Amino acid sequence: MISLAAFIRSLGYSCRVEHPIGDSDVLHITIGLKAGFGELGRHGSIINPKLGPLFRMGSIITDMPLQTDKPIDAGIAKFCDNCRACRLYYPANAIPDERSAAAGKDHLGNDRYMVDTAKRFPYFAKHNYCSICLPVCVYNHKEWARDFEGFETKLWHEIITEEPPPPVYPAGYKNI
Ligand code: SF4
Repeated sequence: MISLAAFIRSLGYSCRVEHPIGDSDVLHITIGLKAGFGELGRHGSIINPKLGPLFRMGSIITDMPLQTDKPIDAGIAKFCDNCRACRLYYPANAIPDERSAAAGKDHLGNDRYMVDTAKRFPYFAKHNYCSICLPVCVYNHKEWARDFEGFETKLWHEIITEEPPPPVYPAGYKNI
């Protein structure tokens, strides 16, 4: 980001770097969704079709004239409606089963999944860490996820899966 900002300035345009970690006035996920960098996952983070959900986003604010991109539909939001990996394995029970009109709209105009931050934050504070929804996200396992897009993968050459499997609930799971 620093190098890109320096390049933009070298062209004579002003810019400001909004870093991914630390104090920032910018909502990077919202900007990333509008720019088509990825789709909004059930866990509330942005999922890039190739990078998955595990990355840090930053933004560069500039007055340089640019062409604007559009939100994408790579099938990820639809995939989330069947997949519940983050819902099931996130320990604070903060990720919902269903979309909710009260949560507002996502990049495609769907109702969003309302993540319960009141449940999430105490877990984070107690363990000094969370982000468990990201490593368990199916799109973090990109080769596996690509099966569902109809590509052959390095992992299972012989399997081309066109539909995601039905959800699997662990023992004792309650749909609340
Ligand atoms: S784990 Fe599954 S439901 Fe959750 S964000 Fe990732 S793809 Fe969507």
